[in-house]
Amino acid sequence: MSFSLNDLPLRDDLKGQSPYGAPQMDVPVVLNTNENPHPPSARLAKALAEAVAETALDLNRYPDRDAVRLREGLAAYLGHGLTAAQVWAANGSNEVLQQILQAFGGPGRTAMGFEPSYSMHPIISRGTGTAWVPVPRDADFRVDVEAALAAIEEHRPSVVFLTSPNNPTGTAVDIADIRRLAEAAPGVLVVDEAYAEFRREDTPSAVTLLDDHPRLIVSRTMSKAFALAGARVGYLAAHPAVVDALQLVRLPYHLSAVTQVVALTALDHADELLGAVDDLRAERDALVAWLRGHGFAVADSDANFVQFGEFEDRTSVWRAMLDHQVLIREVGPPGWLRVTVGTPQEMAAFRTALLAATGR
Ligand code: PMP
Repeated sequence: MSFSLNDLPLRDDLKGQSPYGAPQMDVPVVLNTNENPHPPSARLAKALAEAVAETALDLNRYPDRDAVRLREGLAAYLGHGLTAAQVWAANGSNEVLQQILQAFGGPGRTAMGFEPSYSMHPIISRGTGTAWVPVPRDADFRVDVEAALAAIEEHRPSVVFLTSPNNPTGTAVDIADIRRLAEAAPGVLVVDEAYAEFRREDTPSAVTLLDDHPRLIVSRTMSKAFALAGARVGYLAAHPAVVDALQLVRLPYHLSAVTQVVALTALDHADELLGAVDDLRAERDALVAWLRGHGFAVADSDANFVQFGEFEDRTSVWRAMLDHQVLIREVGPPGWLRVTVGTPQEMAAFRTALLAATGR
């Protein structure tokens, strides 16, 4: 019997939609999902294994439902006097964002974002039945604050997403602009700071605005700067009332005991894990200069990836790069591609492949 997705009683609003789908391919140089190229050291891997082994002896029990120790550790990492009551954690910041939309979005409500931006914001909105309103960025991929304020006024969204630094463009939003949007948003303003640690200058995080803005939510992740994408740990900082709201929608025991202890052990080794961030920033800046030197257009990047172009046929460039064993990402505005900053060896392979792929 032939049976397919179309034969299922799928929700109307999901019909014809595509899932998130960054390719996962077995290629020597993988620079397509903004991962940190540095694996944990042998010392850290051993500490993680020992912590998991100890936890294994208690796996007949449910984990701490409120992940209190982990939230204390994350609050200490964020600083600014934050406490566990202002921090929440989940399986990757994607789950954090989903919980936010479950609590503050939903049928009859609207979420807004400034595109091009992270593709999961509209996908998670749709999954929770929240209408999505995209507002275009300016020609330099920056948020046009006046246009943003006008769109907020027009649509009165329950949730506004502001990604800073933004994926896929790499551009960051000024703290003064975040403040203006926080003051205008009638619902919650979610500043997605997945790439915060990679900013070029030590500019303040949106967490510095939390005291005066109880409907501001700052989401973070251990997937990027902490080099822990495989462990799936994301978190947020917000007013304790926001954390109370999220308890209404989170699944009980959503964060496994193994995940919690892995994240805590990683936090104990934060210096080691974050040690490569400076190197990655320097590698990123060198990459931007090299690309510009070779006549490519490059968006200013405050992240661990760079958006570059412009190509008449970006798909053929992407494919030619793959032929040279380098996987990058075909994402973002037409004519542009995105490459994640890898190790010096990986970036050398990228440069060689790009020159060959584009005949420069
Ligand atoms: N926000 C942004 C802007 C991202 O680019 C990503 C990952 N690509 C995420 C959130 C989600 O990351 P994770 O679920 O691994 O924390």
